[in-house]
Amino acid sequence: MDSIHRLEEIFSHFPGIGPRQAKRFVYYLLNKSQSSIKEFTDLVNEVKKATSECASCHRIFMHKNTGDKTCSICTDVNRDQFILMIVARDSDFESIERSGAYKGLYFILGGTVPILDKEPEKRIRLKSLLERISNNMSTATSPFKEIILSLNTTPDGEHTASIVHDAISRVTTTSSPKISILGRGLSTGAELEYVDADTIKSALQNRH
Ligand SMILES: [Zn+2]
Repeated sequence: MDSIHRLEEIFSHFPGIGPRQAKRFVYYLLNKSQSSIKEFTDLVNEVKKATSECASCHRIFMHKNTGDKTCSICTDVNRDQFILMIVARDSDFESIERSGAYKGLYFILGGTVPILDKEPEKRIRLKSLLERISNNMSTATSPFKEIILSLNTTPDGEHTASIVHDAISRVTTTSSPKISILGRGLSTGAELEYVDADTIKSALQNRH
């Protein structure tokens, strides 16, 4: 495979991008000047070096000091330490934060589980989530009182929510923590990434 086709293949693996769009990206780039391409590749390298995956919530964050292991939200003592919200992706986390309606902690699953998938552990950070919850219940001074499942209301999102709900129920007692899901206001098929702030606020208030 020549380098143009390799580049096309890389773009075709981007989320939501098919082979035709991948081809358009390649020719868009190739029509740019050498200096624009250098600026682009330098920036990708720079952003990669300036960011890390948080050891606690797994979101990608810009670190203040090299070697920072946890993000500014996980280390912020003013956040509500008693609530954990589970989202599928970093982009969902951003939508919720932008709404300003939530002040607790997060956990990023890293994806969703398609309905017929037999190995959810390979798609999402289920093991790491259960460890986080178990550790919290056995050692934390502020154990979780509530865990909110904030997943898309698409078939994959709902399937993932049910897998995560079942798994959490197995490691927690019946009374604590309460497991809730986002409520009315989110229509069926809604993707959190594209939902406006007011709808997120209302879905959070109506969680059940
Ligand atoms: Zn974090």
